Amino acid sequence: MPLLFLALLLVAMPAFAEWYSDEQAIMGTRVSVSVWHDDQAGAEALLNRSMAEMRRVDAAFSPYREDSELSRLNREAAVRWVNVSDELWELLQRARQVSEWSDGAFDITFASVGRFYDYREGRQPTADEREAVEAIGYRHVELDAERHRVRYLHPQTYVDLGGIAKGHAVDRVSRIIMEAGVHNASVSAGGDSRIIGDRRGKPWHIGIRDPRDEQAMVAILPLMDVAVSTSGDYERYFEEGGVRFHHILDPSTGASADGAMGVTVLGPEATLTDALSTTIFVLGVERGLAFANRIPGIDAIIVDPAGKLHFTDGLSDLQSD
Ligand code: ADP
Ligand code: MG
Repeated sequence: MPLLFLALLLVAMPAFAEWYSDEQAIMGTRVSVSVWHDDQAGAEALLNRSMAEMRRVDAAFSPYREDSELSRLNREAAVRWVNVSDELWELLQRARQVSEWSDGAFDITFASVGRFYDYREGRQPTADEREAVEAIGYRHVELDAERHRVRYLHPQTYVDLGGIAKGHAVDRVSRIIMEAGVHNASVSAGGDSRIIGDRRGKPWHIGIRDPRDEQAMVAILPLMDVAVSTSGDYERYFEEGGVRFHHILDPSTGASADGAMGVTVLGPEATLTDALSTTIFVLGVERGLAFANRIPGIDAIIVDPAGKLHFTDGLSDLQSD
């Protein structure tokens, strides 16, 4: 009975799970996904769906694509009400909430001036372009909750979701992975990551790099079931006359924020940690720590302009000196 014997053997064989990973360049950054899965075809299909979801979010919310939903909003909302998708509505609401909490340190309309920087080309806004600082202000984005419509109240207002969209993409992919029944995974898009479960009995180790030395770590955190986002002044920048012009702007001035070199935030979801790392970077050490300590479930590590580390109360165990 060789056939029957074979069938019994297959049933008795334990599922052989292992890590499956993929890494691709999406959203202008490195996206990587790892899942602990018990079959290769299933794992590969899940990794493909994850990457496709990242691409979908990029296509919808990239300000660099003419045909994105965000670009359409930016073209039309100063002229008329624009109906938006539930997903964009949700993102605009989350951004609005963080703006209110932070008294405008986080503000997606920073781009009214921010759009005129080109970090690769070393270009700053001209004096004329800098006058659009008046168009910065989250209150210039009117949200009609009843009809999910949006309009801009200033003709030069321009929105960029770069401070929150990657976190959102990471959360969307994490949801797909969890709904597929996977209990151990990690998802990251540039500086925004989410860890689902642990590394099979061990924590994941996430390093916080030295903002002035790509090869060096200032801290290594053992983590599980958490979202982690880092914002740094080394990601996109150029220098001129000894001044560093980088991609995190203080909405009150339209100039690069100078109260920190790097900020890492831990919390339950990447959409939130992404927005908060940018926020706390703008707030700087003192206001940033006070702010983070007020939000339940949120912790932060700030590397100040001199390179010194500062921790929120929940991480005081990590304090070294
Ligand atoms: P990244 O992973 O791209 O470095 P960060 O979380 O550090 O992302 O956020 C930086 C991005 O956030 C910028 O590239 C810009 O798109 C956006 N941004 C910059 N300043 C602000 C601000 N004050 N409020 C909201 N978004 C901002
Ligand atoms: Mg961020």
